[in-house]
Amino acid sequence: MRKPIIAGNWKMHKTRDEALQFIYAVNQNVQSDEVIDTVVCAPDVLLRCLVKRQGDYVRIGAQNMHFEEQGAFTGETSPIVLQDTGVKYVILGHSERRAMFNETDETVNKKALKAFEHELTPIVCVGEALEQRENGTTNEVVDAQVTKALNGLTNEQIKEVVIAYEPIWAIGTGKTATPEMANETCGYIRTVLEREYGKDVADAVRIQYGGSVKPHNIKELMSQEHIDGALVGGASLEPESFLALVNYN
Ligand code: PGA
Repeated sequence: MRKPIIAGNWKMHKTRDEALQFIYAVNQNVQSDEVIDTVVCAPDVLLRCLVKRQGDYVRIGAQNMHFEEQGAFTGETSPIVLQDTGVKYVILGHSERRAMFNETDETVNKKALKAFEHELTPIVCVGEALEQRENGTTNEVVDAQVTKALNGLTNEQIKEVVIAYEPIWAIGTGKTATPEMANETCGYIRTVLEREYGKDVADAVRIQYGGSVKPHNIKELMSQEHIDGALVGGASLEPESFLALVNYN
């Protein structure tokens, strides 16, 4: 059985005070990490104050990192610093970073390899644009994104990776893929994993759905066979709605 994993992606939101208010409201009210993994992915400057107050069961993630450990990379964040800060997860290849910050399958792959050197669990984002959905190439798109991102990882590492399937047209738009549609593509991703790495890897990898996940649709999404969690933007910002998501069951 795969343990559910719900991750908030705050994107570029929240001040330090707002982050503190959030973590105090949330950290006492989440379920044990034996039942579900609860993750908050915050802007870099807020990571340390969140880690210090994460409580027993919330874990903190970054939204990006560099694949080099140090050097002349103005404005970038080192995986060494994330590890040292107590961060446990890192989102890689979010569609906003692919579209606006030149993230490619190759850089996502380099970052995934580096994440494991620093005990960071990568949440690898994949997903098609509306045009690709409409011209029937969704499966090809996610197949290439998944296999390129995981290139060179060991099977044991791949079992730890979290894949977030986020159709770009559903992010921040209020348009959720129907639970069946989301499940179909997550299921397809699992067949890709089986084809490439075998059934025990495919059965172990947790696949999240992301894109306008809200308290009112989380339960139905989570009831789908191949959906093991959610990566949530807008609805992760307020403690009440985040708690409704992580306590969906
Ligand atoms: P959304 O964002 O929940 O606001 O659609 C999801 C994401 O970008 O990860």
